[in-house]
Amino acid sequence: MKKTVILVTVATALLTAGCGKPGTPPPKGPQPSSLPTYQVATTAPVTGSPTLDAARERGHLVVGAKEDQPYLGQKNPATGEYSGFDIEIARMVGAYLGFGPDRIEFRTIASANRETALQNGQVDYYVGTYTINDNRKKLVGFAGPYFMAGQSLLVRKSNTDIHGPEDLAGEKVCSASGSTPYQRIQKQYPQARLIGYDTYSACVDNLITGQVDAVTTDNTILLGYAAKAPTELKVVGPLFSQEPYGIGVPKNDNVLRYAIDDALAYHEANGDWKKAYDATLGLSGEPAPAPPPIDRY
Ligand code: GLU
Repeated sequence: MKKTVILVTVATALLTAGCGKPGTPPPKGPQPSSLPTYQVATTAPVTGSPTLDAARERGHLVVGAKEDQPYLGQKNPATGEYSGFDIEIARMVGAYLGFGPDRIEFRTIASANRETALQNGQVDYYVGTYTINDNRKKLVGFAGPYFMAGQSLLVRKSNTDIHGPEDLAGEKVCSASGSTPYQRIQKQYPQARLIGYDTYSACVDNLITGQVDAVTTDNTILLGYAAKAPTELKVVGPLFSQEPYGIGVPKNDNVLRYAIDDALAYHEANGDWKKAYDATLGLSGEPAPAPPPIDRY
């Protein structure tokens, strides 16, 4: 814990010294084409969800997301608009629950703070490359999964030494604190020199400037950074985990969780899911896979 704090401080010092700033992925790369719009539900609203009752009272949903992950969850610093596949998933779910895009407020929450944000009611649900697993299920609920990712590695284009996680011994590897890829390196590849930052964009800035040798997290996230900086970065090696993406909800709001499962099933069946993928994450180079089966536990 202490080590992470020190490293983050060092990173901040380096970044403020002019090596780029966190939360700003490189601007280059393909841009999203036209996005789908989702029919806002006019049928009888879902009843018995304390989270939705509070949102209706408030007048809008508050949805947790990422803001520095190209094609997944990205905030335009000039307009404050969020975009990406996770944002589209949040919007299609919102529409199914009766909230149009103008009634969804996004709030950026880092990987390490997701469970707390859901437990404290800071967000109604969370859509941001959030892996479903049993440890997290003790603290929050998960609708979905709506996508299957896997852990991979991002290195500088000039790197010829790192081809997979077994090559990480002695190398400086960066990931987001509190993430499953961070935990996997810590446990399974203890010889790697693991560095934890709050965000992957801080890791990528440090990779480009040579302070770290690799960034590790889900292939989806890494492909986005590589697509934005194709002359500087490349994704290498096999996928070495399965990361099923879920929508985080407050633990005891099963009504909301099942309603979101229904929303996903509906938008997968009517083609919205694929249209959203093609207009966002698909731009980082991978054709649309079939969505994984929803797990209504
Ligand atoms: N999917 C992984 C996780 O939930 C990594 C991505 C992230 O940190 O959001 O921990």
